Amino acid sequence: MHYSIQQVSEMLGIPIQKLRRWDEQGVLIASRTDGGHRRYSRELIDRLAASGLGTTSDKTNAELATIRKSLAEKRRVIQLLLDSENRYRDLVETSHDLIWTTDAQGRFTYLNNAAYEIFGLAPKDLIGRCFFDFESGASHISNRRFLATLKRDGEVKNYVSHLVTSKGQDRWIGINARVALDDNGAILAIRGTARDITEQHLATLRIEHLAMHDALTDLPNRHCLQRRIEEALAAGGVGALLFLDVDHFKYVNDNFGHRTGDHLIIGVGSVLRDLMRGLNGELYRLGGDEFAIHLPAALRKEAIEVAERALDAVRHYRFQAAEDKLISNLTASAGIALYPFHGNDVLALLSNVDIAMYQAKDLGRNRHMLFDQDSDILRSTHRRIHWAKMLRDALDEDRVVLFSQPVVRLKDHKTMHHEILARIRDEDGRHIPPANFLEIAESLGLIKDIDLRVVEKLLAFMRENHQIGKRVRYFVNISRVSMSDPDWTRRFVALLRDSGVNPSQLVFEITETAAMAEIDVTLTFIRQLKDLGCRIALDDFGAGFSSFYYLKRFDVDYLKIDGSFIRDLATDEGSRIFVRALNDLAHGLDKQVIAEGAETQEVLKLLSEMGTQFAQGNQFQRPVPLENQPVLELETSASAA
Ligand code: C2E
Ligand code: MG
Ligand code: MG
Repeated sequence: MHYSIQQVSEMLGIPIQKLRRWDEQGVLIASRTDGGHRRYSRELIDRLAASGLGTTSDKTNAELATIRKSLAEKRRVIQLLLDSENRYRDLVETSHDLIWTTDAQGRFTYLNNAAYEIFGLAPKDLIGRCFFDFESGASHISNRRFLATLKRDGEVKNYVSHLVTSKGQDRWIGINARVALDDNGAILAIRGTARDITEQHLATLRIEHLAMHDALTDLPNRHCLQRRIEEALAAGGVGALLFLDVDHFKYVNDNFGHRTGDHLIIGVGSVLRDLMRGLNGELYRLGGDEFAIHLPAALRKEAIEVAERALDAVRHYRFQAAEDKLISNLTASAGIALYPFHGNDVLALLSNVDIAMYQAKDLGRNRHMLFDQDSDILRSTHRRIHWAKMLRDALDEDRVVLFSQPVVRLKDHKTMHHEILARIRDEDGRHIPPANFLEIAESLGLIKDIDLRVVEKLLAFMRENHQIGKRVRYFVNISRVSMSDPDWTRRFVALLRDSGVNPSQLVFEITETAAMAEIDVTLTFIRQLKDLGCRIALDDFGAGFSSFYYLKRFDVDYLKIDGSFIRDLATDEGSRIFVRALNDLAHGLDKQVIAEGAETQEVLKLLSEMGTQFAQGNQFQRPVPLENQPVLELETSASAA
């Protein structure tokens, strides 16, 4: 009832070795004789032999081959899938971006290794927690808001959150997330990525800081102040705003240079910073020599107190401007406005503090002023501010226009020269005469720019018009303010020297009052211009009641008699005496006389009789734009004056 292994091998056509292996592997098990020989069940082997095992036909071989092939193919696909999954796992595990999934409540169910970097914890220690557990601030609100957004939009892109790692480091991360929904539209899970954007975020903060701070003092700047005030007003708060302007800062800048000026500003900034330490308020630098102090919630009394303390701090500040120059008398002026009483929008408030500050300056500096709606000075300050802007704009937009008026020789009523008279063209194209702006332009120092502009324009005009006669002269008015600024005169002299214009055709007018104000300045100025070859006229002579004595000291070429003596020459004996005496004196000193404001034939006749050489006035021609004036082409003749 048994076959031996040799018999089975022959019957099934399977090598003995293989049968032994099959036996060991339990594929085709044999029983053993006492001597240890394999014995196979006859019944099983007969059935196997009958089923064709061993004697395989061609057909079954082909079928077997197909099966093997398809199995190999399956194995290959499985291998590919495994490879791909490994690759994917590698990617996920080694990604610098955090890859995560959470449940519907935002609790982590999976995180990759980037979790170490972002949270300072291993992924396994984060399972069950959520992003916002690490947020600096109220976390549950953020999480709820985050989930609500996700629920509404299905995804969230670049949601920025500020986290604090388990080691206490600040991290800003940008989160991207998308929800996975079940068949009923309920959230099944949330999947997404997150990236550490700390560096980017800090760079942005740095840029924002630069935009909101002053580079010199690192104090918050004007933008920052505006934003703060906007917020305070929007919140319906009360408070005070102070502007503080260093007095005579320009003096330091002009005399010790801009670097020293910068140091002074840094110094004043730190003095004010010290003052602010004990106060509930913020310090700003608005630019130039202007600082601002914002006192949220402060009322009038506190604001005035702080202003006093700030001015006092500046007064006590000692500044080493140069090795041998200690500035110990520094002062500042302050304007104060209270909100919302003195302005319920930023612009109104800022402009009112500005006005109060100007008032403090006007009243003699080194003081503070609370904004006062009804004051007289307010109106004049408004006017000043209006004109300051108007003049600056006019200069920027090239709206300084040169008019000219002929200077006529009385002997033959021939136009010999021209006086240049400045005008400002306003927005409507009207020409505004100096009476409207001269005083303000002088007090603001803007006259210096106007004078220089007038000279520049005249020089350009003279260069362009070659046909201008050699003996034609242009008279130009120079303000006392310009003349007494050494910086200005340097520029002025350089301008003339480099102009290529014949200096003897230029006559500069200084008013008598200006000339008398600072005799030394006047003498230096006259000397410089005469050295260049220019001529000088003393303008508005007589209006200042100065003595004739000074006429000898000033080396001037022309005396221009003030119009007030000329207009009533026919009717006023006193004027006649004055003009006659002046003419005589001028002849003796070899100076030429020009009568201003000649309006009638009668006056012209009287002037001629008194020996006046020239006259200017509406009788001949009112001032007109220089470019409309026919260019004088006087030939060189012996009849010249
Ligand atoms: P000014 O130098 O004494 O100029 C004479 C002024 O008398 C001019 O006034 C002129 O238009 C006016 N005028 C001329 N003829 C008559 C007349 O027959 N009757 C009357 N009533 N007035 C006459 P304007 O142009 O308004 O200038 C006023 C002053 O402004 C000038 O007085 C001069 O001191 C100053 N000014 C003009 N241009 C400049 C400038 O470029 N720089 C500076 N610093 N001052 C200037
Ligand atoms: Mg003049
Ligand atoms: Mg005059």
